[in-house]
Amino acid sequence: MCMERASCREDFEVGIICALSLEYNAVSYLFDEFWDEDGDQYGRAAGDPNNYTTGRMGHYSVVLALLPHMGKANAASAAASMRASYSGLRLVILVGICGAVPYSWGSEILLGDVVISKTVIQYDLGRQYGDQFIHKDTIDDSIGRLNKDIHNLINIFETDRGLDWLEKRAVYFLQQIHNKVARTKRRTKYDYPGASNDKLFEPTYRHKHHVSPDCICRHCASDKDPVCEVALGSSCADLGCDEKHLVTRERLFARHYDHDVHELAIHLGAVASGDKVVKSAVYRDKIARETGVIAFEMEGAGVWDEVPSFVVKGVCDYADSHKHKGWQNFAAATAASVSKAILERYIRTDKAMKPPVGADEYDRRDGGSRNASATPIPRPNVGAMTEQDPRLMEERHIDGPFNATFSNSGPGDQFNAPGGTQNISRGNGNQFPGATFHGPVQFG
Ligand SMILES: [Zn+2]
Ligand SMILES: [Zn+2]
Ligand SMILES: [Zn+2]
Repeated sequence: MCMERASCREDFEVGIICALSLEYNAVSYLFDEFWDEDGDQYGRAAGDPNNYTTGRMGHYSVVLALLPHMGKANAASAAASMRASYSGLRLVILVGICGAVPYSWGSEILLGDVVISKTVIQYDLGRQYGDQFIHKDTIDDSIGRLNKDIHNLINIFETDRGLDWLEKRAVYFLQQIHNKVARTKRRTKYDYPGASNDKLFEPTYRHKHHVSPDCICRHCASDKDPVCEVALGSSCADLGCDEKHLVTRERLFARHYDHDVHELAIHLGAVASGDKVVKSAVYRDKIARETGVIAFEMEGAGVWDEVPSFVVKGVCDYADSHKHKGWQNFAAATAASVSKAILERYIRTDKAMKPPVGADEYDRRDGGSRNASATPIPRPNVGAMTEQDPRLMEERHIDGPFNATFSNSGPGDQFNAPGGTQNISRGNGNQFPGATFHGPVQFG
């Protein structure tokens, strides 16, 4: 098990990247322990400017990096440096906040919901023609394909049971954040802002001076007309944005009797990643129609190119002109909670094993054959290891014959020893050391 402190950088399998300090804050509350309380223990590779926070989240050693600035290029260079320093990373999650497409593929997305990327689309890549913009949006050019490991992880959450579990577990971790801040000066920081503050205006209804008749806002009718600078930085209430133009949200309406109760919902889909902050409902809906994205953010494409990664972002606005920062902390907390829950479903992979002392002798005596019937050194049943490519065998390091972690798959009883605890799983099929399932589990 990885409950013990990672001994070196190579021991870290999971990385988290945040673009904003408010995102970093929420993630920090979900670390079970920090390993840098007495200063950094792990160092970094030459040329890596990143600042890292290290610790344990669940049963994973996690390295957390906060980007110096937003945007794709910063994210890409930080992720490349992270990979250079932490070469054992198998999974990097970009955790934070995003703007959502409020109605996607028949389902509503509300503020505080969380989006998980099945793919990342660089929607601002493409060719601008006189009359139209053609997206470079096929899998092979601007869209990143999930690596197999991450695809399999996320696939589970596309099942009803997997998603229900994830939502329930995320609520548990959200409560953990609330508990941690409960007795501090930040006790209200992660409170649910309330359904009455989740306002979605009609896409063509602009955020501008509706009541003050003497500025350029007066002439603003369509999405292309100018709006004054003051309006851009003002709240809907100050400008007089009329709530008659709000869109009814079925999910909020359905629980109108209890506006202060939050129901965490998670959506999987394509996420748009670009260097522009989207503040236009018309543009948002146009990109959503053309590419099928359900959310907008700014770092995914950069990280995606460099490390095996995906995006988990809480919805803090609808990428329209009325957006404001009131939901950012809460959205960051829901995203952090979902990320920690996802990690619980990330099955640990056996560590490479060192040959036992005397292994050379063993190899000589049985002529290098793994199928020799006489075994001079007692070994646990290594099952499928005998079917491994011999080159892989050489790379394995076994600390001692019984201190090994291994598993096998196929018919019959399975033997595994995660962290040195020996288990036998009865029955047929693949076995999953280190994971506990209740009831039937469907792997799609
Ligand atoms: Zn361990
Ligand atoms: Zn104005
Ligand atoms: Zn407004």
